[in-house]
Amino acid sequence: MMGRVAIVTGGTRGIGEAISLALRDRGCTVVANYGGNDEKARIFTEATGIAAIKWDVGDHQACLDGCAAVADQFGPVDIVINNAGITRDGVLAKMSFDDWNEVMRINLGGCFNMAKATFGGMRNRGWGRIVNIGSVNGQAGQYGQVNYAAAKSGIHGFTKALAQEGAKFGVTVNAIAPGYVDTDMVAAVPAPVLEKIVAKIPVGRLGHAYEIARAVAFLCSENASFMTGSTLSVNGGQHM
Ligand code: NAD
Repeated sequence: MMGRVAIVTGGTRGIGEAISLALRDRGCTVVANYGGNDEKARIFTEATGIAAIKWDVGDHQACLDGCAAVADQFGPVDIVINNAGITRDGVLAKMSFDDWNEVMRINLGGCFNMAKATFGGMRNRGWGRIVNIGSVNGQAGQYGQVNYAAAKSGIHGFTKALAQEGAKFGVTVNAIAPGYVDTDMVAAVPAPVLEKIVAKIPVGRLGHAYEIARAVAFLCSENASFMTGSTLSVNGGQHM
């Protein structure tokens, strides 16, 4: 991984931040994409030395432009971690079309947009790694998350299909399906609901972001050279 250029979407906080650090620590030149708070991104860059660039992964043209800017500044993109994601939870009766569309646009559309911007170059150069962050809730479903579960399940399918296009060209495409991890996203879950969720996790606790990041780093390494189209469950034993 030494010297590889990596983009981590949503890479300035939570699981994405841990992935950015893990890849940097293994010798990659990392660019953390982000979609929100400029001040937080500035603090992240100051603390880590990792460049942070803002664009909306749900916007096709913004991904093309963002990835081109990264390539201009840092060199061809070798590794893409599609980590950016949002939740807009609600039971079907209360879920708006906008809640559905926005989660599909960012969580699943973001993977497509980022692959469109980088996969061809990886294939031409004969080496690449794409790791998509799915979810246990894309494998098992979750009450109040038809949008999120559909998008994450879609990510697992997208991974399997794109892997077949990269396999003969040195480009692997894998996914991670994290269980519940202690980040801002999970902090938004009401405490009584979270207690019930944690009670069902065999190891008896939430995951740490770095535990997901280590699995991502493995998938980007030569140790995973014969793995493609896989979804690796990293979930404290919460298999469905
Ligand atoms: P988080 O909310 O802390 O971070 C999400 C990141 O995505 C943020 O940096 C945000 O800026 C970025 N983002 C959101 N919309 C964006 C957009 N349009 N363009 C660019 N960036 C955008 O969440 P997290 O818990 O760190 O989750 C990271 C990923 O892991 C997500 O895909 C999430 O669905 C997945 N995941 C999380 C858990 C968990 O328990 N935390 C479990 C399974 C899967």
